[in-house]
Amino acid sequence: DTALYAAKRAGRGRFEYYSDVMDTKAREAELRRAIADDELVVFFQPAVALDTGELRAVEALVRWNHPTRGLLGPAAFIDLAEETGAVVPLGAWVLRRACQEAADWRAALPGAEPLRLTVNLSPKQVAQADLVQTVEKILADTAFPPDRLTLEITESVILSPDQLTVDRLEALRDLGIQLAVDDFGTGYSALSYLRRLPVTVLKIDRSFVTGIADDPEARSVCEAVVHLGNAFRMNVVAEGIETAEQAAALIDMGCSVGQGFHFHRPLPPAEAAALVRDRFAAVV
Ligand code: C2E
Ligand code: MG
Ligand code: MG
Ligand code: MG
Repeated sequence: DTALYAAKRAGRGRFEYYSDVMDTKAREAELRRAIADDELVVFFQPAVALDTGELRAVEALVRWNHPTRGLLGPAAFIDLAEETGAVVPLGAWVLRRACQEAADWRAALPGAEPLRLTVNLSPKQVAQADLVQTVEKILADTAFPPDRLTLEITESVILSPDQLTVDRLEALRDLGIQLAVDDFGTGYSALSYLRRLPVTVLKIDRSFVTGIADDPEARSVCEAVVHLGNAFRMNVVAEGIETAEQAAALIDMGCSVGQGFHFHRPLPPAEAAALVRDRFAAVV
């Protein structure tokens, strides 16, 4: 269905005419209203130690609780948000809500202190001159500790960062925030840039994890990213782990942390809070 989706998108691009532009404007307006009206929801997907299942982090993943279309995943609106710039207020909203939720868990459970929060940053957000001030203000308002936050940037950001982007990422690092490269391996691996940027986590893209058992090329990419992580002293996180076999293969390669339906699906806020309570209640 990915191919079908791509074909549809290519088709749209080729026959873009006036009504399409109007359609985009209307959809953008609806999304901006949804952000202002708190129609968005943050789900949380745990990242775990692959050998013990111990909870290490939760990743905030946005959903839209649409009044007529039901619960929508990011595939239904994140491209529109990115193209129109609505992803800037959307991303700030997600960061604020995620920090609030996670700060509540931490306040109730001293044992949950080590748990990290991970939030996705879009390329448009990284390009904002006031990114660092926005993040700093949200952390201050929610009293969430910067050294427990990881921000995920996309491979496209590290491909050709201008000096202002590098400065911004370094300022985030100086606040104590960790930076991860999401979906790593899908773009051109800009190794030289990777070394120059204050990135400390590489997330192996799901497409490689999916093929780890029976596609030698996918397996090689997983191994290469793990080795790269070791060479650069970065942490490696595997995403999209759906089977015990994939988890075992990753452990064999020396990858110790991962996410995927085999462990946990993205959870609605109340279920995420319950899981965190369950896992950290005993530890004081
Ligand atoms: P991502 O950051 O790489 O997040 C992982 C995606 O893979 C999530 O999809 C998650 O539900 C899905 N996933 C996790 N484990 C498995 C698995 O075992 N199997 C399969 N088939 N899928 C798995 P989701 O929630 O639909 O998000 C898709 C993408 O949308 C995210 O990819 C991220 O790039 C973007 N996104 C989500 N929330 C935000 C946000 O708040 N801001 C921005 N800028 N982007 C976001
Ligand atoms: Mg991510
Ligand atoms: Mg990812
Ligand atoms: Mg991904």
